[in-house]
Amino acid sequence: MKRVIVTGGAGLIGSHLCRRLLKEGNDVVCIDNFYTGSKHNIADLISNPYFELITHDVEESLMINASEIYNLACPASPVHYQKDPVKTVRTSVFGAINMLELAKKTNAKIFQASTSEVYGDPSEHPQKETYWGNVNPVGLRSCYDEGKRCAETLFFDYWRQFGVRIKVARIFNTYGPNMSIEDGRVIGNFILQALKNEDITIYGDGTHTRSFCYVSDMVDAAVRFMKLDDSVTGPVNIGHTQEISMNELAERIIRLAGSKSRIKYFPLPENDPQKRKPDTALIEKMTGWRPVTGLEEGLKDTIKYFKELNR
Ligand code: NAD
Ligand code: UDP
Repeated sequence: MKRVIVTGGAGLIGSHLCRRLLKEGNDVVCIDNFYTGSKHNIADLISNPYFELITHDVEESLMINASEIYNLACPASPVHYQKDPVKTVRTSVFGAINMLELAKKTNAKIFQASTSEVYGDPSEHPQKETYWGNVNPVGLRSCYDEGKRCAETLFFDYWRQFGVRIKVARIFNTYGPNMSIEDGRVIGNFILQALKNEDITIYGDGTHTRSFCYVSDMVDAAVRFMKLDDSVTGPVNIGHTQEISMNELAERIIRLAGSKSRIKYFPLPENDPQKRKPDTALIEKMTGWRPVTGLEEGLKDTIKYFKELNR
């Protein structure tokens, strides 16, 4: 039985990843400070003898023996990562150093949840792993974008300098059950607004795009990637290639939720990327992975989840 650490295990992706790893027969240690994650997301795992929760901030070092580490701890929603930007940088950078040090000491293989935000507001479309990005280093999103870019740098330097076994994945927009009600990201906001028949808040003119991946598909790709030979380091894109504008997304959620909401437009936040879509040829070639959940089906599941939460 392998012992696997998941930092950020009480968040959206982490809570699904913990379940998947337990299902595969691993001993799972979830490390979280509940900055954006919730005990509700892992409540059913607490009584599992193969699941352990450690309330801990990854800014601080810790010593646990494990054979694998998935480093997911970091607020991911612009609302949350901009609330205390210095803390966001500390989480990304000190968190990466602390987890890499742990991997170095214990010879664990380590996965980094990087992000499509390393591409910034991209001038290349779709984005390939070879693209170096277009990131403002001094804007409102920089604490997250540059924090994650620095974390990638650290991963590759620990690999080159100390031979740490790394797997760096660039995660594109991911959604699904266990998103926090206060998350603030677009799918959660639109669904909550639609369920309450409130105005749907589109920032900008709604023509800008994203490509949304359902959380179980994301977790499946991450686990497959982690299983590859040690010579494979990434970075590799993981995400869905179905691109949709925010106008279309709003209309679709209104329809699926059977809502009477109307769309209202607000200013676009600074440096908000105009378009985003991954080139996923690499992850598909290396692992045979393909997302199996389409947007319609994934949105229906997520709407159902939020409906039950609101009950
Ligand atoms: P989330 O906010 O739901 O989960 C993040 C988890 O990390 C939470 O449980 C939170 O409490 C925990 N955390 C935050 N700071 C911490 C700290 N200092 N110490 C310990 N725990 C801490 O976000 P998510 O969507 O599940 O994202 C998980 C990871 O994937 C993040 O690293 C994020 O940057 C990355 N990612 C997510 C997306 C996405 O669309 N969901 C896209 C790109 C990258
Ligand atoms: N957005 C929006 N209304 C909202 C929340 C977000 O129009 O209530 C927009 C946001 O400006 C961005 C897109 O939706 O263009 C995706 O935002 P999200 O915060 O989900 O993630 P991002 O990809 O920007 O990190």
